[in-house]
Amino acid sequence: MIDSHAHINDEKLYTNYKEIINNAKLAGVNKIVIPGWNVESSKLAIKIAHEFEGVYAAVGVHAQNVSDETLDSIKTIEELAKDPKVVCIGEIGIDYHYTKDDKDIQIEFFKRQLDLAVKLNLPCEIHLRDATGDFMDIIRDYVKVNGVFKNKPIMHSFSESKEIMEELIRYGFYISLSGPVTFKNARVQKEVASVVPVDKLLTETDSPYMAPTPLRGTMNEPKNIPYILEEISNLKNMDKFELERIIDNNFNIVFNVGD
Ligand SMILES: [Zn+2]
Repeated sequence: MIDSHAHINDEKLYTNYKEIINNAKLAGVNKIVIPGWNVESSKLAIKIAHEFEGVYAAVGVHAQNVSDETLDSIKTIEELAKDPKVVCIGEIGIDYHYTKDDKDIQIEFFKRQLDLAVKLNLPCEIHLRDATGDFMDIIRDYVKVNGVFKNKPIMHSFSESKEIMEELIRYGFYISLSGPVTFKNARVQKEVASVVPVDKLLTETDSPYMAPTPLRGTMNEPKNIPYILEEISNLKNMDKFELERIIDNNFNIVFNVGD
């Protein structure tokens, strides 16, 4: 199994990271991407990735951390992306949930890092919350000018509608589903899971956040992927092991890593 997005560089998990990664492997979760949210956490993701086979890093500045950094940080991110353990730019994105006051700078960081991912031909992990309109405008404009994305962008912890999912897949995106797909009242995520094409699907925990049912409220870890995979296989009415095989293969394709 695979976890496309786990913040093992978060202080809550980093204090115990060796045990957390070993427990993930014991649970059968053999490949993990650790995303950064600013320069420091991106560097830490790379450091951890170098210590384990099957563990990789994503480097980037998150929408909620744009105030920690200047646009010069994107040059640093580009340098960090040369590391052989870096397989992705992320996490990047737009989030107006807590504030829209920094809207312009969020968009600037997002566009520049999206361009960087395209330039380096690396996938990117995108966080989107309460900003669907602005996000889709940027993506549609990009596609109008450049055609569909070839660098395999990933919508992390996808929580948008089925219609948005279908449009993004037409533009070359992948969809990563996380703990909320297991929540009883997550109607939208369950609908998306039931119809998303399996060859465009990834699983993630978004550790330490959003632990799946029945572990809600606890600190999340990559070892919890089986709960998410199981729920998706039920929603898709598909054999769990067949789904696992396809998603593992998707991970190798998206992040360009072998077995
Ligand atoms: Zn995240």
